Amino acid sequence: MSDNRAFDLLPWHQPLWKGLQRALRANRLPHALLLEGRRGLGKQRFAKAFSHGLFCENRAGTGEPCCRCRACSLFQAGTHPDFSYLEPEEGSSEIKIDAVRSVCARESLTAAVGAYKIIVLHPADALNKAAANSLLKTLEEPARGTVLMLVTDRPSRLPATIRSRCQALKFRPPPREQAREWVKNRIGAGEADLLLALSAEAPLLAVELADPDILQTRSRLFDQWVGVVEQRLDPVRVVEQWSGQPLDRIVDWLCGWTIDMVRLKTSETTERLFNPDQRPRLQALAQRLNFDVLHGALDALFDARRLTGSTINVQLLLEDLLAGWSSAMTTEGRSGIS
Ligand SMILES: [Zn+2]
Repeated sequence: MSDNRAFDLLPWHQPLWKGLQRALRANRLPHALLLEGRRGLGKQRFAKAFSHGLFCENRAGTGEPCCRCRACSLFQAGTHPDFSYLEPEEGSSEIKIDAVRSVCARESLTAAVGAYKIIVLHPADALNKAAANSLLKTLEEPARGTVLMLVTDRPSRLPATIRSRCQALKFRPPPREQAREWVKNRIGAGEADLLLALSAEAPLLAVELADPDILQTRSRLFDQWVGVVEQRLDPVRVVEQWSGQPLDRIVDWLCGWTIDMVRLKTSETTERLFNPDQRPRLQALAQRLNFDVLHGALDALFDARRLTGSTINVQLLLEDLLAGWSSAMTTEGRSGIS
C-alpha cells in the first residue's frame, strides 16, 4: 500500500471532492463509489484522501483532515483499524474470494474508532468471479457507516451487478493549462507538452513517463514497430526483444501510434496527436496504409487492452498484434489504395 502520510488533493480533484462533501453534509453519501477513469489521474490518491477526511475527528468544513487527531495519526501510520485496502496479492493478478470474505466479515462489525468503516478495492476489475459474487452481499446490505470505494481504469470489466450498485465517480483529464502547470512544477517546462500528449492528458502518467529510460524505450519500440510495419524486421524477433516491458504500456503506445495515423490520414494538419514528436514518420506510414487496415489494427489493440492484467500469454498476444502489422502493407500494396 502506498503512502498515507501526506494529505494531497490534486487540483483537478476539487469538483469531485466538493460534490462528495456536499453529499456528506446532506447525509446522502453513497455507501459504494466506483472511481473510474483512465490511468494517471490520481484515483487511488483520491480514495485515500477521501478516506482520511472521513476518519478525521476534526474535519474542516472543506472536508480536509486535520492531520493531528488520533484518527489521522492512525490513518497516516497505515494502522487505522477501520480502513481496508484490497489489492491482488503479490504474484497474482486477481483479488480472490478469501481476501474479500475476510474484509467483509470485519465490515459487519461496528467501527472501532469513529463512525466509518472504509474498504478500498484497487484495481476493482481484478476481482475474480467468486470474489465479485462475495462482494455483492456487502454491496446489497452494507452495515451502517460502511463506505466501499472501487477504483478502476476499466469499469467495463466489472460485472454489471457490481457496477449498478455503485455510484460512479468519473475522473476526467484536467484542462490543458492546469495539467501543464502541475506537470511543469514537477519536471520542468521542457517536455511537459510532449509528455502530456503521450499520456493522453493524464498528469501523473506524464510525470511517470518523464523517466529518460522510459522515453528511450518508447523510441526503441517505435523504431522496431516501424521496422515491422515496413517489413524490415521479423515480428517474432521484435517481440522477444520487448519481453520484460509492461504489456499495458506497450499496448497504450501501439494504440497511440495507430490513432495518430488515423488522425493524420483524416487531416494532415491535425494538432491533436499523442505523438507530436513522431509526426513525420507516422504521416509517411499512414499514407501507405488504408483505413480498413488501421481500424482493424485498432480493434485488435482494444481487444488486447481488455486482456491486459488478466492471465494471458503476453508473448503470443504481442506476436499476434505485430504479425497483423507485418502484413498490413502487403494488403495495401495489393489493394492499391492509398
Ligand atoms: Zn484529524
